[in-house]
Amino acid sequence: MLLLDHLKQAMLASHRSGVFGALLFIDLDRFKALNDSHGHDKGDLLLQAVAQRLTASVRECDTVARLGGDEFVVMLVSLSGCREDAALQAEIIGEKIRTALNRPYQLDGSEHQCTASIGATLFQGHQTSVDELMKQADLAMYRTKESGRDRLRFFDPAMQTAALGHADLEVCLRRAIGERQLVLHYQAQVAADGRVTGSEALLRWPCPERGVMLPAEFIPLAERSGLILPLGTWVLEAACAQLALWASRADLAHLSIAVNVSARQFHEAHFADQVLAILAQTGANPNRLQLELTESLLVDNVDALIEKVARLKASGVGFSLDDFGTGYSSLYYLKRLPLDRLKIDRSFVRDVLSDPNDAAIARTIVALARSLGLGVIAEGVDSEGQRDFLANAGCDAYQGYLFSPPLPVADFEAFVLRA
Ligand code: C2E
Ligand code: MG
Ligand code: MG
Repeated sequence: MLLLDHLKQAMLASHRSGVFGALLFIDLDRFKALNDSHGHDKGDLLLQAVAQRLTASVRECDTVARLGGDEFVVMLVSLSGCREDAALQAEIIGEKIRTALNRPYQLDGSEHQCTASIGATLFQGHQTSVDELMKQADLAMYRTKESGRDRLRFFDPAMQTAALGHADLEVCLRRAIGERQLVLHYQAQVAADGRVTGSEALLRWPCPERGVMLPAEFIPLAERSGLILPLGTWVLEAACAQLALWASRADLAHLSIAVNVSARQFHEAHFADQVLAILAQTGANPNRLQLELTESLLVDNVDALIEKVARLKASGVGFSLDDFGTGYSSLYYLKRLPLDRLKIDRSFVRDVLSDPNDAAIARTIVALARSLGLGVIAEGVDSEGQRDFLANAGCDAYQGYLFSPPLPVADFEAFVLRA
């Protein structure tokens, strides 16, 4: 009843202001199976956890309600006044909800996985009645169930197409990977004495329709769609082939390459074998390859992770923990993981001269690395002041615009030879 009341008020407000709102129908996939196999107590715990994740995923002005059973409704208000933009906003929030609900649940000691089917519809003013809106969202949810669950669909096919801007991108990215359109740029990594010791490989996608796309614009999509696996393999192959080329040049043979590895990629059962195979195929020296992991890897299945890292390390591959300080590293795992160095996240480096908290964090990370016997590199160093502060704190390597931006390989080589 409160939901219906809120919905009526939202329609009134939307009538006055012209902005759209959205109704999302959320139904948990295979909830009955959990109830049947693990009992209703577990089912109740799951519903409570779902309710918490839903409320945490929306703004204060939105409404979360449970209709009954495993059906929830989320009402979003104050979206854009433009239909396409509002559809996109609703899709983004809906995807955020779907991702939040997909995370594993701890139900009274046992882990449970659950997905959700989401149906969405937009409203503006009183164009559609309350009853009709509820039916639309419900119908969209049923279509989601029919088309394989674990998705969001809009009631209106036109809105679905607007939201599909995303799907287009996925099709394009898939093709780009197949046609090897993506390239690696290299950003210098510099030792305390100013020598360039190596580089980080950073993906760039020169998309014919959209211009050069940066990783932030397509890596999340690649991770969601699974494309990160072929993409990640290509990055490793390209970086190792580059190492082999440099090895044949006396003036470049000392350079290392750091490759970013997504958690999803690292969790693949055969990841270590794959890296070893690529090293063997390309003839790259494993001692020149660094893999950059992120703290999100340290959340679950850490024993399997440690085993993979140890195997690769035994063959000479090095490991850095990227964006350090932004995640949830357990110091216990950190001690057990055979890393080579920590990489101070650029968000701390940015304000290291102006924000005493960031300065304290940067100093602490350096001290932590030292006490664990690890190296430490700072990323995003773009001024001499920052470099000097970090050098004083005991940092031993740097990366950032102060030295060089990420460059196409020929420019990077020229930079190294000049330096
Ligand atoms: P990251 O690994 O932390 O990479 C460092 C990012 O900082 C790069 O952004 C780089 O261009 C940027 N940067 C370098 N120096 C400076 C500076 O002085 N100031 C500032 N403000 N920024 C600086 P980019 O290339 O856009 O990459 C973003 C992220 O995308 C990377 O963060 C990494 O997490 C991911 N990524 C890039 N390439 C790959 C890849 O091949 N595979 C995977 N899985 N992820 C990748
Ligand atoms: Mg990195
Ligand atoms: Mg980083």
